[in-house]
Amino acid sequence: MTKYRIPFNRPSLTGDELHYIADAIAQGHISGDGAFTKKCHALLKETLNAADILLTTSCTHALEIAALLLDIQPGDEFIVPSFTFVSTVNAFVLRGARPVFVDIRPDTLNLDEKLVEQAITHATRLIVPVHYAGVGCEMDVLMEIANTHNLNVVEDNAHGLFGSYKGKPLGTFGAMATQSFHETKNIVCGEGGALVINEPHYLERAEIIREKGTNRSRFLRGQVDKYTWVDIGSSYLPSDILAAFLYAQLEKREMIQKSRAQIWRHYIEELSDWATTYGIGLPTVPDDCEQPSHMFYLLMPSPEVRRHLKDHLDARGILAVSHYVPLHSSEMGRAYGGYEGQCPVTERVSECLLRLPFFTDMSAEEQNVVISAIHEFEVGSTHGADRQSSEHFLLGSR
Ligand SMILES: *Cc1c(COP(=O)(O)O)cnc(C)c1O
Repeated sequence: MTKYRIPFNRPSLTGDELHYIADAIAQGHISGDGAFTKKCHALLKETLNAADILLTTSCTHALEIAALLLDIQPGDEFIVPSFTFVSTVNAFVLRGARPVFVDIRPDTLNLDEKLVEQAITHATRLIVPVHYAGVGCEMDVLMEIANTHNLNVVEDNAHGLFGSYKGKPLGTFGAMATQSFHETKNIVCGEGGALVINEPHYLERAEIIREKGTNRSRFLRGQVDKYTWVDIGSSYLPSDILAAFLYAQLEKREMIQKSRAQIWRHYIEELSDWATTYGIGLPTVPDDCEQPSHMFYLLMPSPEVRRHLKDHLDARGILAVSHYVPLHSSEMGRAYGGYEGQCPVTERVSECLLRLPFFTDMSAEEQNVVISAIHEFEVGSTHGADRQSSEHFLLGSR
């Protein structure tokens, strides 16, 4: 058992997972693209109103398929926030491309669209926006820039399933988008993901790349009489056992989302006054965005105050965690060089952001333990000197 009374995350079952897994086994098809995979494809396609969906073994692998589909080559550049998970970048680096890190906005913590155009060179092929915490990036501006400069857009929508920007689902703006069903996300199957295809001409090759470079999908539909090696590819299909688990969760998506929305709102309601008093930042959700309650975070006035609050919660058996180490300052990222001082908001946010425990079946009692512990934390009296830096930080450089 963990020493934490309140963990940071706890995957929850919705009821039918084991039953559907037993079903998949009884049907005798537990490899990829069985009955449950097809159900997941249909449900996601309809909910997102996407041209097509392919389940994958992870969001990381969906990003790798996107890189192969776009024929990303050595020497190509892609524009990406430094404040993201490694996979957003690795998938394209694996093809030999070079990441060009752009800073984030101090309010939504998304790729700062105002800094994108100046990062474009003759080698730029692609923009990879990440909808941080499921809050939409400025997609109108990013799509306009991409169209003007003839660039592709692949949305890393690992946090943003069921979120929207100006009424349109996140994951449906770029040529493609990627989803994650890792156990830390809203809808889970342990490890899993999906490639959302918004431009239908990518579908045929996507199926081939996902099926080891063969036209097996066409064969299974009776479109060719035997299947063979036709392109590069790998094995990116999840077992139908995982799809069965996932389908149980997807069917209960409204219940999951409702429960998470309630937890998210309760944090906002209970922490707003406290945050205002002490100059602490809470998530910003622009009016034209609907966020899917993926996470809840605090932007503390300084790295020291963050550490004190983390220790304070730790001592009470509550696990709160930081998030991404800026990729440009990571061991691997430093090899791309030249970013000192280029991403100040990313660096500041990385040092000051603290994510609070947040999971679908978090009880009101559990959440109140977290909230009371935060209220007991004396930011002002012990750390008054940090107030000024907090205001400076929250107003940002814009
Ligand atoms: C979780 C996550 C991923 C990776 O998802 P996997 O399914 O674990 O591969 C990629 N990008 C972001 C932004 C994530 O949060």
